[in-house]
Amino acid sequence: MGNKIIIAIDGHSSTGKSTVARRLAKELGYVYVDTGAMYRSVTLYAMENNFINKEEFDIQSLESELSKINIRFEINAETGRNEVALNGINVEKKIRTLEVSSHVSKVAAISKVRTKLVEQQQEMGKEKGIVMDGRDIGTVVFPNAALKLFMTATAKDRAERRYKELIEKGEDVSYEDVLKNVVNRDHIDSTRKDSPLRKAEGAVVIDNSNLTLEGQFEQILKIAKDAIAKQ
Ligand code: C5P
Repeated sequence: MGNKIIIAIDGHSSTGKSTVARRLAKELGYVYVDTGAMYRSVTLYAMENNFINKEEFDIQSLESELSKINIRFEINAETGRNEVALNGINVEKKIRTLEVSSHVSKVAAISKVRTKLVEQQQEMGKEKGIVMDGRDIGTVVFPNAALKLFMTATAKDRAERRYKELIEKGEDVSYEDVLKNVVNRDHIDSTRKDSPLRKAEGAVVIDNSNLTLEGQFEQILKIAKDAIAKQ
């Protein structure tokens, strides 16, 4: 009873998955893994090497360099947070821009990219005691996870949340562009051939359109503790 489990959190863009996942991991003493950060890091690599821009995407060049891309998580000593490093350099801030967001779903639709990252994610879950968020965690990465959550909210609510976040970080963006990005990413993520975004079988749906994440967290924590008690 009470053995460590895997908690898989999937859902649409900007639903607050990572906020919930990070808090949940902290409360439970689990490791938090943000798989979106991994896809964003590969995207940043593609941008920095001029494989992708607004007009073009040289998929072959990115595929041929995948073995050169090393993604690791490291604890930031100041914040205690797990942050992502691309080839040894912390890119946690660089991967959160709207420019990276505008390309990431095209990169995430490439099967060779997914195979590489999924393998690494499965390795990280071997010891259990992990909260992982993304788009295919309950369907592909850990289909046998003891607890699966699927988070969603209206596009308008999500875009408002993301817009506020970006403005607070000092990015010069418009609400319309953020809304377009959220809708466009959901579309690409849900219609791609490889591992499309779906609610996994048995996932608990959390719709937080009219709820604050704070209000919802206690409910989610209880669901998690119940799932752990059953093990
Ligand atoms: O979670 P986040 O919004 O940072 O993810 C960025 C993008 O990475 C998603 O829109 C999706 O295209 C891709 N992604 C994915 N599979 C995951 C996590 C993220 O395809 N497990």
